[in-house]
Amino acid sequence: MAQVRLSGIGKTYPDGTSAVAGLDLDIAEGEFLVLVGPSGCGKTTALRMVAGLEEITSGTLTIGERVVNRTPARDRDVAMVFQSYALYPHLSVRDNIAFGLQLRKLPKREIKQRVEAVAETLGLTEHLDRRPRNLSGGQRQRVAMGRAIVRQPQAFLMDEPLSNLDAKLRVQMRAEISRLQRDLGVTTVYVTHDQVEAMTLGDRVAVLKKGVLQQVAPPQELYNRPANLFVAGFIGSPSMNLFQARIEADGPGARLELGGQRLAVPGALLNERPHLRDYLGGEIAVGIRPEDMDDADLGGADGGAVLTSTTDLVEALGAELLVHFRLSAPPVVTEDTKELARDAGADQVDADAPDTDTIARFSPRSQTA
Ligand code: ATP
Repeated sequence: MAQVRLSGIGKTYPDGTSAVAGLDLDIAEGEFLVLVGPSGCGKTTALRMVAGLEEITSGTLTIGERVVNRTPARDRDVAMVFQSYALYPHLSVRDNIAFGLQLRKLPKREIKQRVEAVAETLGLTEHLDRRPRNLSGGQRQRVAMGRAIVRQPQAFLMDEPLSNLDAKLRVQMRAEISRLQRDLGVTTVYVTHDQVEAMTLGDRVAVLKKGVLQQVAPPQELYNRPANLFVAGFIGSPSMNLFQARIEADGPGARLELGGQRLAVPGALLNERPHLRDYLGGEIAVGIRPEDMDDADLGGADGGAVLTSTTDLVEALGAELLVHFRLSAPPVVTEDTKELARDAGADQVDADAPDTDTIARFSPRSQTA
């Protein structure tokens, strides 16, 4: 395993598309780094440059101690797992896994031993003589992993390896990849557009937008301290509610004016986050995570700030309810108030302790509680 370092890496395609710009990433030995971002943000291009499948336009790529900008893919000692698995249909599972070792002309006995050990780890032993077409999607995915693992490369590069699996299998394979990577301790760069995968797999997660790195941090830090509004809105499902607001001084504290309503900011909070004072009298964006809101009418206020809202939609997901609501509507109070977690109508939402560190400039979006 090895450290992988991207310094100022950029890619401009011949048609002038700038897919990746000035990307700096230091991936430590044995680290699991996830590259995440919306479709077209450049994550696959970045990974393919590390793999040697795409030419690097600018910057320096180092794997271990070597600068590998001009090193062909086969000499980089990295193993890539593709979304499509890229298995050879005419070869058995055994030969698919063995392929890279055969190319390197390793002794037959060693190949057999290594292939069988990997098959054992991945629960493929009884399928070794089958062809890929006779395997389930999950089993094919394991063969693709097996082919990467058996080479004992310096780094694994994975491009959305789970996206062809159904939801249940994806969760299962996600846990397997996590366990395998921990056991093998191989430096891994993993590309996904799925932020849940990113959060659960990554030691650190790098968020890209339009080819530009927005933030790289451990998952909890991304969640609790997003560097900007893009990261705040991208990480978390359902996503963070972002409101445009004014913040005005009010006695020892302040008040937020949003959606035609007022929300008190206690003096203690201002003292704890003194930089908030810089924004007094100005426009800010306020971010509130859906799980930080409760239904005040159902006893959820708990001394927190209360906003009046109109419920648009309630989605029951079993363990939780998603309540979509509007703040800007005039408050409506009806007899149904206490039933509102199940019914559309007027509602009160407790916005306890909004994380004021998510403040930035942004326009209001639809709200979800
Ligand atoms: P997705 O999740 O949809 O696969 P991505 O984040 O992996 O997206 P890339 O495939 O790296 O994004 O593409 C980044 C940008 O580069 C996109 O605007 C894409 O259209 C463009 N692009 C990709 N390949 C080429 C190419 N061969 N020639 C020109 N532009 C390209």
